[in-house]
Amino acid sequence: MEQYDVGIIGSGPAGLAAAIEIEKNGLSQIIIERENRPGGILKQCIHDGFGLHRFKERLSGPEYAERFLTEVINKKIPIYKNTFVTEIKKDKDGFVLTLVNSDKSIFETHVKALILANGCRERTAKQVFIHGTRPSGVYTAGTAQYFVNISGYLPCKKCVILGSGDIGLIMARRLTLEGAEVCGVYEAKSMPSGLTRNIAQCLNDFDIPLHLSSTVTKIHGNERVEAVTVQKVDGHFNPIDGTEEVIECDGLILSVGLIPENELAKSLGVQMDYHTKGPIVNQRLMTNVKGVFSCGNALHVNDLVDYVSESAEIAARGAVKHIKKQDREEQINVLFDDSKFLYIVPQKINIKDLDEDIIFYFRSKEIVKDAVVKIKAGDVEIFKRKYPSIKPPEMECACLNIKDIDFSTENQITFEMKI
Ligand SMILES: Cc1cc2nc3c(=O)[nH]c(=O)nc-3n(C[C@H](O)[C@H](O)[C@H](O)COP(=O)(O)OP(=O)(O)OC[C@H]3O[C@@H](n4cnc5c(N)ncnc54)[C@H](O)[C@@H]3O)c2cc1C
Repeated sequence: MEQYDVGIIGSGPAGLAAAIEIEKNGLSQIIIERENRPGGILKQCIHDGFGLHRFKERLSGPEYAERFLTEVINKKIPIYKNTFVTEIKKDKDGFVLTLVNSDKSIFETHVKALILANGCRERTAKQVFIHGTRPSGVYTAGTAQYFVNISGYLPCKKCVILGSGDIGLIMARRLTLEGAEVCGVYEAKSMPSGLTRNIAQCLNDFDIPLHLSSTVTKIHGNERVEAVTVQKVDGHFNPIDGTEEVIECDGLILSVGLIPENELAKSLGVQMDYHTKGPIVNQRLMTNVKGVFSCGNALHVNDLVDYVSESAEIAARGAVKHIKKQDREEQINVLFDDSKFLYIVPQKINIKDLDEDIIFYFRSKEIVKDAVVKIKAGDVEIFKRKYPSIKPPEMECACLNIKDIDFSTENQITFEMKI
């Protein structure tokens, strides 16, 4: 059986950034990717806006991925492509991965630490309970993006977009540019789910209407979508009778959320956070299963790829410490008021492992202007920052400088938001 120090599942921006960081520390590693080309979802994201934080440039998805992939190739980091991880089992000094590919059929590889960088998946129509038949023409926004940008097909001529997630907004613009008519974006919530810049650049600039507090309640058509019924919803997302409108179209594009992909993690006994739908981790992004790290969209859904790469580098440094047996453990919980915050990552702090500043990623539950976010260790305030505008679609960061902070006697970290 092949043996490596670290196994990285996924070669999207998270997997590639983790691999480069592992390589700097001289450990052996293998990247495992189920697709035939590395780069993850960025391969199909041909619009720009990637890398603004990290490179101070407006790169397209493939350009952003290429910067990392070039380094991975130059450093001769091995990637198993077209290879699917089907099973992971823990043994006394690491993990045995069962892999499947067409060259070697089913085979096993042993790794001492595992970085889960396997991204997220899209919610489907079934998960949002749309009644009616199942004709062709109903696509998730990611599938529509793949058809247009990779396969060169236009999946519909006239469509309705359900959900105002970023991928849906980007596809509203993309389909319009390719000659399709986008009748409107329908969002059940009273505020958009996507980034403000995407509302401006993808909808407003193309006169595509955004209908808030509205949803699609029925799909019409047998072989092919012929129309959809849209309806207003009340504060509890229940359709309001009498507001039905039938819109003729041949496509319904769903942009109703992403879910971290964690079947493999769950099979190992990794504990999940119901707020993020990803693993519970400490500041090294290590899960409760020692030696298993999570990053990128597998950990929580990121709106900016720059944070995906950053989290992967944190996880990789954690894996290095774990393998070098430099990690000691005494964890405390990070608490927050879930009427104000949607989530905070990491959810735990290992107070015996404090040689790096701690980056917290969080989202607020509501739109808040001039929010003051404080972090307390017990009763002592250890972080305070004013955020001019916090919105649920835009993930925020708080970087905690751990110098001069004594966590030893405290038993919990608390996030507070003053409005
Ligand atoms: C459809 C879609 C479109 C998006 N568009 C944008 C956008 O326009 N702009 C933006 O900023 N963000 C976009 N995002 C968010 C984007 O996912 C992140 O910015 C970033 O690409 C996530 O990186 P990642 O490495 O965590 O995951 P991914 O890029 O999804 O990479 C995960 C990789 O893991 C592989 N994998 C998964 N399971 C296994 C397995 N069992 N075995 C082997 N390999 C496996 C996958 O094939 C994939 O290559 C989009 C997300 C999706 C789902």
